[in-house]
Amino acid sequence: MSPTSPLLFVENIHKSFGANEVLRGISFSVGSGEVVALIGPSGSGKTTALRCLNGLERPDQGTVGFTGGPEVTFGTKTTAKQATVLRQRSAMVFQGHHLFPHLTVLQNITIGPLEVQQRPKDEVINEAQALLNRVGLAEKANEYPSSLSGGQQQRVGIVRALMLKPDLLLFDEPTSALDPELVGEVLRVIKELAAEGWSMVLVTHELAFARDVADRVVFMDQGVVVEEGPAAQVLTEPRQERTRNFIQRLLNPF
Ligand code: ADP
Ligand code: MG
Repeated sequence: MSPTSPLLFVENIHKSFGANEVLRGISFSVGSGEVVALIGPSGSGKTTALRCLNGLERPDQGTVGFTGGPEVTFGTKTTAKQATVLRQRSAMVFQGHHLFPHLTVLQNITIGPLEVQQRPKDEVINEAQALLNRVGLAEKANEYPSSLSGGQQQRVGIVRALMLKPDLLLFDEPTSALDPELVGEVLRVIKELAAEGWSMVLVTHELAFARDVADRVVFMDQGVVVEEGPAAQVLTEPRQERTRNFIQRLLNPF
């Protein structure tokens, strides 16, 4: 056990879609400043688990909580609104960028802070411009998403999450929809954020990147956590056969 309370704790999450039980009792935690890579085969429930962490998906049972709150114990009566409180502490970067096509870059990244968080406009715009500058997109503020490359769109997606001032960043395979030559520019931004001490859960197939930036790795298969531990250990000396097979397949797909 860690001597301090974790930032986020997930206890015994179950989630079914119809008869398909996708999460079958998931538990893990994320420490403050920790980067946790969530890996596992396609269809193992990684996206569903991540979405449960910030109330985009409602588990059938289990608890998702942040030290200091909010904490939600899910049941059949849990409403969407009750789940939404988890978004006070975390923000998601999606697989595709999910930007609004009819809004400019600046509008896309300021709409949450202005409309939902109701923060002062001058302050929000200044922060937005500083963050765009940071990820090399200062000139794109007034462009529409369709005029940006996939890598630029995804960097805007990261800025949009940062603008919400979350305590925890959630990334769902942030580079998997990108052309290979655009992957690096996005991973670089994520690596800088990790180095700055951001807490994050990163679903990724980029094992070398996970090894580089993650403190811990959680390996999921068929809706359960099969193995977790320090990144170097899980990725290079996995204890479980299922983990070993998965890593082997990724490293040697032919
Ligand atoms: P992963 O991200 O590891 O590939 P997912 O969480 O996306 O896995 O999916 C796990 C399983 O849940 C899959 O069988 C998928 O078809 C199913 N699933 C995910 N989302 C939904 C949904 N909204 N409705 C029905 N089935 C879903
Ligand atoms: Mg997924």
